[in-house]
Amino acid sequence: MEAMAALLPRAKDFGLALPAPPTRPQRPSASTAFRGSFGLRCFALPAVASFLTSLRSQSRRRFSAPRRAVNTDAEYKIDLEGLVSLCKRRGFVFPSGEIYGGYNGFFDYGPLGAELKNNLKRMWWRKMVHCRDDVIGLDSSIVTTPSVHQASGHVDNFSDPMVDCTESKKRFRADQLMWAKVELEDGTSAGYVSMVEDGNVEVALKKAAKKLIKQKKIEGGFKELEIKDMTDATEEEVKLIPSPATGLPGSLTGARAFNLMFETYVGPYSDGASKSYLRPETAQGIFVNFKTVTYVMRQKIPFGIAQIGKAFRNEITPRQFLFRSREFEQMEIEYFIDPEADFKAIQEEWIMEMWNFLKAVGLKESLLDREVHEGEKLAHYARACTDIVFTYPFGTQELLGVAARGEYDLQQHAQASGESLEYQVPGQKRKFVPHVIEPSCGVDRLFLALLCSAYDEDEIDGEKRSLLRFHPCVAPITCAIFPLLKNKPPLVEKAKGLAAMLRSSGFNVLYDEAGTIGKRYRRMDEVGTPFCCTIDFDTLEDDTVTIRRRDDPLKVERKKREDIGAFLMKECQLPEQ
Ligand code: ATP
Repeated sequence: MEAMAALLPRAKDFGLALPAPPTRPQRPSASTAFRGSFGLRCFALPAVASFLTSLRSQSRRRFSAPRRAVNTDAEYKIDLEGLVSLCKRRGFVFPSGEIYGGYNGFFDYGPLGAELKNNLKRMWWRKMVHCRDDVIGLDSSIVTTPSVHQASGHVDNFSDPMVDCTESKKRFRADQLMWAKVELEDGTSAGYVSMVEDGNVEVALKKAAKKLIKQKKIEGGFKELEIKDMTDATEEEVKLIPSPATGLPGSLTGARAFNLMFETYVGPYSDGASKSYLRPETAQGIFVNFKTVTYVMRQKIPFGIAQIGKAFRNEITPRQFLFRSREFEQMEIEYFIDPEADFKAIQEEWIMEMWNFLKAVGLKESLLDREVHEGEKLAHYARACTDIVFTYPFGTQELLGVAARGEYDLQQHAQASGESLEYQVPGQKRKFVPHVIEPSCGVDRLFLALLCSAYDEDEIDGEKRSLLRFHPCVAPITCAIFPLLKNKPPLVEKAKGLAAMLRSSGFNVLYDEAGTIGKRYRRMDEVGTPFCCTIDFDTLEDDTVTIRRRDDPLKVERKKREDIGAFLMKECQLPEQ
């Protein structure tokens, strides 16, 4: 048993900053829902204030993740730690460099994870590129001339606010380090409490406040907590707020900017002149290729360029497993439109396109929602932005964003490169720099959302077990092929023949002859395989096989062996909405 336990992954191997809350996170009450931390902030520290103002006015990155109400209707049968463990046991995701103790913010996708992720990307490409005649694909380099990132504003402004603990040497994202003054009923202060933001900040800080009062042997209660983050702390308050690492005040620094781009050096010299960056988003590769793609592919506006690829961000606190990592993948489209077009209507079409895609690959619609960015939350160049958020076991968070970005990026690159990026309307004298609508989705966040949606538990003969209900279009293994008995060569031969036939038709199938049929079914349910085919003695007579569906196990059908390919092909279609 101990050996087994040692094999199980530990949460910290996956960079989980905090254990998942034991109960479902509570929805903050209206009166205490992080008052003062949303929207317009009043900054007391002048240096922080000007840094934050500059961030808001220039950065491509939104300054602060909005704190969302947690969807308390979401009934999860698994918490984040359970998911992490399941991902490792079933071969979906491992910590990167695990034999050396892992590496915070980096992950390796195991054999089944790689299949699931590839299927997700393939489906997205199919729906967004192949099934539309107004979107074409691109694959740009990860490292490019630093001029690109200079012009886009990433070199100067792609930052998060950071706070250091000088005692523990730990770093925190200032907007995720939450604190509150514990004020007694008579108006005097009992001290301060703090924690790194999690689904349950309000409850956890209240608990910490009660503990503080007990420690100080104070009778009576305290006023309702006004929860803020470190970007809202004055110089005096910074000195009094305890570090979450040590539990003691005095070691936290004020917030300052931390650029999230990974630097690298190109060529044999490691000096300033050879410095470049790992791209923090795939979008810039699309903007700088806009002119060439339009010309060589003879594109007429409106049209889009899609790209799937790796992006890198040196996140201060990577956490929540795959949700916030330092190396991740994005699926992005820059959809170029006429500046006079109705951008709101086109943005809405893309929001719906993304929403329908998420549903089609198997996300539960009840876990999806929209969040519109307004006022301070909207970057200055953006005309509109709507996130599609997903309720993960740790709270409701951004899964993807659909922004109307105006002409900002193309203008920046035109100015910096001296190259005109105007579009000439065919047959007219009219020229313009197109505006863009940008749907941008993180593959890894979608992967995690898919696992959360697919996870289920049931009971067979009194035994509780877990299973994954993936849609056939993304399931890592589409179909398992079993000979009824492994010691009957004609059955084995037919089963192997069927597996080979399906493989040559492009399906990822698994041949399995070990154990009882019941056990083999169960193994496949656990990894989300939607169909299992069994070759039995009837197959030898009439060449039919049984098909058993994971989600309707009692309805076992018989089909001709030669028809299985067509059956799977139909089942694996991305559902039309
Ligand atoms: P957040 O506010 O959560 O940091 P963001 O608004 O900075 O995200 P964008 O710059 O809009 O994110 O990136 C587009 C998409 O890329 C996001 O919607 C998300 O799906 C994904 N993404 C961004 N950062 C990460 C990360 N560190 N790890 C995994 N996916 C990410």
